[in-house]
Amino acid sequence: MSDQLDLLIIGAGPAGLSAADAAAQEGLTYLVIEKGTIANTIRQYPVGRTLFSTPNELEMREGSLHPVRDKPTREELLSHYIHFVLDHDLRITTGEEVTDIARNDADGFIVHTRCRSFQEQEKNYHARAVLFAFGAMEHPRLLNIPGEDLPKVHHRFVEPYPYVRKEALVVGGGNSAAEAALFLSEEGARTTMAIWRDDWENRDPSAGAMKHWVRSPLEREIAQGRLRVILYKDIDEIAPDSVRLTTEAGESMTVANHVVFVLIGSDADLTMLKKLGVRTAPGKLTEVPVYNPDTFETDVPGIYVVGHFTNARHIKAAIDVPRKIVPLIAEKLRSP
Ligand SMILES: Cc1cc2nc3c(=O)[nH]c(=O)nc-3n(C[C@H](O)[C@H](O)[C@H](O)COP(=O)(O)OP(=O)(O)OC[C@H]3O[C@@H](n4cnc5c(N)ncnc54)[C@H](O)[C@@H]3O)c2cc1C
Repeated sequence: MSDQLDLLIIGAGPAGLSAADAAAQEGLTYLVIEKGTIANTIRQYPVGRTLFSTPNELEMREGSLHPVRDKPTREELLSHYIHFVLDHDLRITTGEEVTDIARNDADGFIVHTRCRSFQEQEKNYHARAVLFAFGAMEHPRLLNIPGEDLPKVHHRFVEPYPYVRKEALVVGGGNSAAEAALFLSEEGARTTMAIWRDDWENRDPSAGAMKHWVRSPLEREIAQGRLRVILYKDIDEIAPDSVRLTTEAGESMTVANHVVFVLIGSDADLTMLKKLGVRTAPGKLTEVPVYNPDTFETDVPGIYVVGHFTNARHIKAAIDVPRKIVPLIAEKLRSP
């Protein structure tokens, strides 16, 4: 199948949805291709999690998100984005993954996809411009140690409920690890958090420090003896019933556990962008594509980037940037 589009958008997270909305308002022919479901990253947040951000930083239209408390839960936000798609009849295909992009000799790009849900069917789309809004969750970071592939080891945390009265180890020092440790501990898992001292003592939010509203309850759990923290230097090996680590003091220690969560961040997959010739550079926290900060166009004309894998990482920016740049893309496509 071949479709001629003005704009093909990869990913139906907040950035891709905002871009679709802006493209519709500009009268562009567009399609969002999403390998998972609408707002897939938010769907993978822990069940019942409350967002850090306030409704005005997350909503698709001013005053349209009405959580029960001051900040929405994962479920409220997910429903907000799904209803935005339905109410505005945005053109999105889900369960379809963009696997390759090449320049079309005549004009624009050929985008190759594979449908995950439909017998792995492959498709090609033709698009004059492509907007990458595919987030930064593709590759969870690994410890790269023996035993990390055991079934008890997880690189995402979704819910605490299977682990009541189990021994759980959470490795990592950011908000995701801290939140997982807190959820687990509060719901009766005997939880240990393994963290580097620098992360534990970091109080600078711009350097990725744990938010204070995560730290405070975490410290309460520790004070009440329900959560244990180990400052470590290295995690050495994961065995079926334990983890061997080296403490900050250099001692070898074996920690018994039934389940291990390795929550040390994730990275975007920049392979397709690099193959197209897009340059990358070190960003605030990780490698990012090089792009014009006004237009978010990369140095490959017609290829744009927005959202979590750029320097504008949070949901507010993921929504705001497409509103600014899609009209510029439309203007460029309309100019002779
Ligand atoms: C646990 C957790 C909590 C967070 N809490 C907050 C918070 O409170 N406030 C806040 O502002 N931010 C928060 N963030 C960050 C926030 O989730 C991101 O800033 C936001 O999701 C970025 O939106 P996005 O559209 O750029 O990317 P994403 O939401 O990641 O969307 C990208 C989409 O692209 C899809 N995709 C990827 N590759 C392909 C492909 N090849 N083909 C087709 N589709 C593809 C993915 O499935 C995904 O649906 C949190 C992140 C995590 C992990």
